[in-house]
Amino acid sequence: INFDLTQKERLDLFQFTISSLENYYKRTEAYKVSPELDINEIVDVVRKHDFNSNLSPREAISTVIAALEKYTVHTPHPKYYGLFNPRANFSGIIADLITAVFNPQMAAWSHAPYAAEVENYLIQEFGKKFGYNAQKIDGTFASGGTEANLTAVLCALNETFPDYANNGLMGMKGRPLIYCSTEVHHSIVRAARTVGLGLDSVRIVNVNSDQKVDIDDLNSKIKEDLKKGNQPFMIIGTAGTTGSGVIDDLNNLSKVANKYNLWFHVDAAYGGAAILNKKLKNLLKGIEKSNSITFDIHKWMSVPMGASLFLTSNKEILGKTFRIATEYMPKEGNGLQIVDPFSHSIQWSRRFIGLKLYLSLLIFGWEGYEKTIEHQRKMGAFLKLKLEDSGWLIKNDTSLPIVCFTDEELQFNSSFTSSICQKLIASGKTWISVYPIGGINTLRACITNYSTNENHLEELVMLLNEERKKFQRKEEKVIQD
Ligand SMILES: *Cc1c(COP(=O)(O)O)cnc(C)c1O
Repeated sequence: INFDLTQKERLDLFQFTISSLENYYKRTEAYKVSPELDINEIVDVVRKHDFNSNLSPREAISTVIAALEKYTVHTPHPKYYGLFNPRANFSGIIADLITAVFNPQMAAWSHAPYAAEVENYLIQEFGKKFGYNAQKIDGTFASGGTEANLTAVLCALNETFPDYANNGLMGMKGRPLIYCSTEVHHSIVRAARTVGLGLDSVRIVNVNSDQKVDIDDLNSKIKEDLKKGNQPFMIIGTAGTTGSGVIDDLNNLSKVANKYNLWFHVDAAYGGAAILNKKLKNLLKGIEKSNSITFDIHKWMSVPMGASLFLTSNKEILGKTFRIATEYMPKEGNGLQIVDPFSHSIQWSRRFIGLKLYLSLLIFGWEGYEKTIEHQRKMGAFLKLKLEDSGWLIKNDTSLPIVCFTDEELQFNSSFTSSICQKLIASGKTWISVYPIGGINTLRACITNYSTNENHLEELVMLLNEERKKFQRKEEKVIQD
């Protein structure tokens, strides 16, 4: 069996695959954003192949591409206003292809020195962008924000409890505690469970009316816990909450963290990209005082999944947390100042994640990102304006392009937002979601795609207005009857 196929077949298949993909990439807007999904049908389509008879390579490739076209919420669609899933820019796509072919092994530096140094360079450059002292920057690429946040919790534990690496949680006096708000991403709870702390080690702090961590509540919860003999060790602030795009008061969080000597982590999975935009970067003030940052590359940096960046201003901590001496790993070469990536990350064998970012920056530069983010910022402001013009009530306060809104009069009607949301999704013309703010369900639309423009947004507002009118008529009818 020839797993390589012949050169003739390869060239044919590259060409064939690329033109099929190009057809999708070029025509993404022609698809229904969210197709009707019949679970049984999908399962049948997948399982009708029993692998006892083979398809030709062309047949196989067409089969999977056709199925993906049909059975996917098209997150690369410009009218998908969802959960930070971007359209992948073309350089990111090419980078993933190149990575797959070379398949550099990122565990040992000596196996993939170019790839490792590309990632080190990006870690350094992004550390500087976020305002870290250049001498102290370290970091690692990760599969996503979930892994990056887990890395943060492990670093915080190792920094605070020097015995943690050997003893784990055994023999700890008092419960180690993490502080974060109701708006924090659930991956933090996952991290607490994964490291063996459990949900009860996550102290959920209240938010103000503006959805930011309530600093007074944070202070009083920490004081109370210390009195009880618990061991606070970490504060997490969010820069761009998943629900409403709010950025916590990072300066004041860092002050509290300093006062009690706690690890200060900023989850900037989405909002971190604001650092690359002149008008938005000030929103992240205080992030430079953090001990660590989660920054997803596969969100606002518009590259394919899975790519995240974990950064820290504590140069020693990743090594302390992850280094394990092995006999079989290739040794660091000739006393060079090098770091084996596996000694800094949860993953061992690892994909060359950083290439998607490096290639995107090589081709588009910082300026390309500045402009893209500026465009999306403007589209967010445009949507907000259009919604207000049509009498919608904006419920969140953020300069990031996420709008949470409802109708002044219908906001207390429990079925209003969910019914509008369902109608819009079912139409196949757009994708939005529902998010509760202060106990009231709002409609949430995020400009997560760099190719979304004014026309798309005008159409969205038109659809919303139509559905609201239909809902109002129905309600009036119910009252009259
Ligand atoms: C998306 C998100 C995460 C989780 O990241 P994944 O890349 O999905 O693992 C964590 N925190 C925030 C604030 C997010 O928006």
